[in-house]
Amino acid sequence: MTNAAGNRPVAIVTGGSRGIGRACALGLADDGYDVVVNYAGNKAAADEVVAAILAKGRKAAAVQGDVGVESDVLRIFAAADALGPLGVLVNNAGVIDVVCRVEAMSVERLTRMMTINIIGSFLCAREAVKRLSTKHGGKGGAIVNLSSIAPTLGAPGQYVDYAAAKGAIDAFTLGLGREVAAEGIRVNAVRPGLIETDIHASGGIPDRVKQLESTIPIQRGGTAEEVAECVRWLASGKASYVLGSVITVSGGR
Ligand code: NAP
Repeated sequence: MTNAAGNRPVAIVTGGSRGIGRACALGLADDGYDVVVNYAGNKAAADEVVAAILAKGRKAAAVQGDVGVESDVLRIFAAADALGPLGVLVNNAGVIDVVCRVEAMSVERLTRMMTINIIGSFLCAREAVKRLSTKHGGKGGAIVNLSSIAPTLGAPGQYVDYAAAKGAIDAFTLGLGREVAAEGIRVNAVRPGLIETDIHASGGIPDRVKQLESTIPIQRGGTAEEVAECVRWLASGKASYVLGSVITVSGGR
């Protein structure tokens, strides 16, 4: 999978150092992409993912950057440009916060929640469209957003802010998908359920998946790899007629 200049297409995975993003980065390398592994602060984790991708014979770069900061996003995309032509963006970076009712949510919490989860995805998609759209001289490609089943449940008493942010991602996926469909870009999203990653510890409940296991029809939490399978499929030509869709990967929850 190379272009006339011998370059492989590049995939950017935001939050590619851990969890679902890590599984996407490794999987997309297996699918033939060179990969930009973005991370927020955990350089060691990002370097480990990059080393694993290099060992597969692909190019990779770890790029620190907060997706909610415009100048950081520009830097992430500049690093991708240095690797080769962009083909795929996985808008994966996302955060939760500690369990909290809405009346106790500070403006700082809400701003962080919306900035990273919503504005970060918009900024990265904006830069991707500038490179992928045939309107801008690009060759097309795919954007895959990480949503969540949280908007279908509302997450009352826990993370209504997170559920609302991911609800915005669902609307963003449909709107941007339709906006750029005729320009060679397919935009879709994956809606994971309870997946075994560090995100639950960051929300103060490290064993959240175990606690809720019996509420999942399939009776277990999902793995990052099971979510990445769907992301990889949506990014691939096998999903050529799938556009503006949000696919649930939740074990039935
Ligand atoms: P995770 O294990 O907590 O990993 C988060 C990743 O995002 C890390 O690589 C982290 O980098 C990076 N990150 C955090 N804030 C960032 C920022 N501001 N800018 C750039 N990167 C940032 O999360 P996960 O569980 O894999 O979740 C990945 C996505 O799936 C998120 O969008 C999440 O909302 C969604 N999701 C997860 C679940 C679940 O049950 N796990 C369910 C539904 C949806 P560092 O390593 O440097 O910290």
